[in-house]
Amino acid sequence: MRYISTRGKSPKLNFDQVVLTGLATDSGLYLPENWPCFNKREILDFQNCSYSEIVYRTVLPFIGDSIPKKIFKKIINKSYKKFRHEEIAPLFEIEKDLWMMELFHGPSLAFKDFALQLLGGIFDYLLKKNSERITILGATSGDTGSAAIEACKDKDMMDIFILHPHKRITKIQRKQMTTVDSPNVFNIAIKGSFDDCQDLVKKLFSDTDLGRQKKLSSINSINWARIIGQIPYYFYATAKLNLLDSGISFCVPSGNFGNAYACYVSKIIGLPVRKIIIGSNRNDVLTRFFTGGSLKLSNVVATLSPSMDIQISSNLERYLFEIFNRSGSKTAKNLESLRMNGRIEISKNNLLKIRKTFEAYKLDDNGTLQNIKKVYNDTGRIIDPHSSVGFYSAIEAGKKSSVPIVTLATAHPSKFPQAVRTAIKIKAKLPRNISDSLERKEKYDILPNDFDLVKNYISTKSSFGE
Ligand SMILES: *Cc1c(COP(=O)(O)O)cnc(C)c1O
Repeated sequence: MRYISTRGKSPKLNFDQVVLTGLATDSGLYLPENWPCFNKREILDFQNCSYSEIVYRTVLPFIGDSIPKKIFKKIINKSYKKFRHEEIAPLFEIEKDLWMMELFHGPSLAFKDFALQLLGGIFDYLLKKNSERITILGATSGDTGSAAIEACKDKDMMDIFILHPHKRITKIQRKQMTTVDSPNVFNIAIKGSFDDCQDLVKKLFSDTDLGRQKKLSSINSINWARIIGQIPYYFYATAKLNLLDSGISFCVPSGNFGNAYACYVSKIIGLPVRKIIIGSNRNDVLTRFFTGGSLKLSNVVATLSPSMDIQISSNLERYLFEIFNRSGSKTAKNLESLRMNGRIEISKNNLLKIRKTFEAYKLDDNGTLQNIKKVYNDTGRIIDPHSSVGFYSAIEAGKKSSVPIVTLATAHPSKFPQAVRTAIKIKAKLPRNISDSLERKEKYDILPNDFDLVKNYISTKSSFGE
């Protein structure tokens, strides 16, 4: 399979190159030149498959012959062995025609483990194959950092450096990163904000010195391998609930639009997805886009669902590319307009097209807390703030839906104990093995918000490239 850039000006690449490159040279995002297709028979057959087998069958067409089949199977099995629930993505019926799929049983307790665990294994294999070493660098406001560290720890071919804002993430979030005892994991607490961390990372990436010395790489959500790891659970839910004939809708609490885009890809490649329902918090840029057709940026506000506090949903570019009939120049022009004027306008026709598939809702912090309480009172289930935004949106969409809806629970409630306690006066308990491991000694260094010091830290700590 060959991959093309959404902005039309980068060379076509194969899977290896796309995964190791991340962003295209024309600043676009890579996606497949042609979509694979699953027919009804093939999907029906998934009913008898384990989760890992469904991952194997749905992801294989995107990988082509970059990884031998036997090895790919091993990578998958290893990735999902670390999940604490035997069904990997368990489904629960909440009320008639409304299901919840729990995606938080991975090592870092958030759905990002589904893609990052797989990505870690794929990276490691490709790097060994090419005898390459890389240094992974990222900034986190909480969830992504711990999922990335869990995915990269103890891997031979990479070091990982994660910057987080000192004293501005929760204790659990910090401990999830800093108690990981692996020689290739480096946590840096920056005396500054999340934006400061992100600015430092951007500058470090554009530093040619460091780039040459360390071969920096990123595993943020624009990497194509992050998308493919999020496709299988949509197939899994549809097959297990036997909704291949009636059709199914999914509700996705969204920020960077990676998860919802993976749902859209599932639809393109053959899954009978009727509606993709987007849930936003007060950072509602996606909701405004999918209801009104105009993408207009505003300032990010902090909410109880921090992993959705995003204004520029990078993966939306991949969807826009399809809406613009795969025209790279049109996509580039519109993204340029977003950068210059802070907005993109979609034609009436395109808006109609979009609304055939997408619906969107939003919920503020107050509503998020009330909804956590309502779900607890009605069902006895404790949900986290992100899942609460999704749940509310699914209920709203359900009022006019003719097919069953599956709403995604994206984080374990114990990751957000304060919000849960405020809503229902109950302490959400961490799973036992996690609370034990968080008692281990923490390892991290505190650095000032200073480019030269951070750069020096990375070039001396990292174990290769000298
Ligand atoms: C990252 C994240 C989201 C948002 O997912 P996107 O793919 O960025 O839209 C939602 N919930 C949780 C818990 C997350 O960590």
